[in-house]
Amino acid sequence: MKRYAKLHRSGVTEQPHLAVTMPEIVRTQLSESPEGTVLKFTQRVPVDTAHRPTTLASSAGEIGSGIGLPVLQPSITSLEVESVLIPMIGRKRIRTYTLCVSSQVGCAMGCGFCQTAQMGLIRSLKAEEIVAQYFAARHQITRPDPTAEIANIVFMGMGEPLDNLTEVLRAIAVLTDRRGPGLSMSKITVSTVGRIDGLLKLAEQVKQTGWHRLGLAVSLNAPNDQVRSQIMPINRAMPMARLRETLENWPFYSGVHLCLEYVLIPGVNDEPVHAEQLASFVRGNLFEGPESMDGQQIKRFPGAPLRGLINIIPYNPRHNSPWPAPTEEAADAFMQRVKDRGVYCKRRRTKGRDTMAACGQLGNPEVTRKAVAAGRAAPP
Ligand code: SAH
Repeated sequence: MKRYAKLHRSGVTEQPHLAVTMPEIVRTQLSESPEGTVLKFTQRVPVDTAHRPTTLASSAGEIGSGIGLPVLQPSITSLEVESVLIPMIGRKRIRTYTLCVSSQVGCAMGCGFCQTAQMGLIRSLKAEEIVAQYFAARHQITRPDPTAEIANIVFMGMGEPLDNLTEVLRAIAVLTDRRGPGLSMSKITVSTVGRIDGLLKLAEQVKQTGWHRLGLAVSLNAPNDQVRSQIMPINRAMPMARLRETLENWPFYSGVHLCLEYVLIPGVNDEPVHAEQLASFVRGNLFEGPESMDGQQIKRFPGAPLRGLINIIPYNPRHNSPWPAPTEEAADAFMQRVKDRGVYCKRRRTKGRDTMAACGQLGNPEVTRKAVAAGRAAPP
């Protein structure tokens, strides 16, 4: 037990009767932001066929993009896991980091705006490979700066956490273990495309002692089913009304809020009427906005207001993106419109775009190219 604590707290991997090998850090890329340096790092993991789903009956075939598993070229013997340390200046002007971890290499969900989706799902990560990202961030990457504190961990890197729920839960159990890293549950957030089957299982976990304060973020990204199904294939199987119902019934404990992420994409989901619809999604029966705008009916979502806030993420163009990034003014105007409807809404500042470390930009172009060449992944 002492050795376990020493490993996690002090980062000592070589101890009497204990030699733990951590995945090698392949590279670290830095980019500056107003709040400090954004550090993207990648770790090498084996291809490991045991953790590659083998049939199309996996989530990829059923509710993901329908593109199946990319066929890996024999020349690919290892994979890279990407993680990002994002600096934040807190209330007391103290700098902390949010660590963004990956739960899979690639992703099966096929969202049209996301770089990772271009790879298809290569494989799911094991719990220890998820924990190893924290270990590297805490004991290897930030070590030169003893004041650097990792205040939050978000599952917003590569992959869909609810597509790999068992391993994600095991990793969270280790990260919050008081004898180990000892992070508090409220500092961890799982972000999902909104897989309802996974959300129901996660809700059961959240009801367990010690898990009540786990954070949940849902990538809504669209104000209505038409737009959402177009950019997020999951929505065709699990439309917004069902998602809303699941979120309405979420086991909220005190102080916990749902975060609804909304990637703002010019020409796709950024019209004034979309802001109205989005407000209606959050407020449910309370929505008192207009019935229609610009000749478009505003869909009313019945039900109680959601206990959540909206996080607007300005779109970060992926490789070969058909859409540009929104302007600052457009993002502010959209946000203001949602706020005017009484919905709490904030904006995520873009960091790390120049090193492809920003939201939705993680993904190895090399693997993507090879997967596309093998005819399995969606072309960019
Ligand atoms: N699969 C999970 C977690 C990974 S994505 C999920 O969907 O939530 C983490 C966040 O980045 C999501 O909110 C996603 O919508 C957003 N994102 C994806 N691609 C993006 C892009 N190109 N620009 C900005 N945000 C993006």
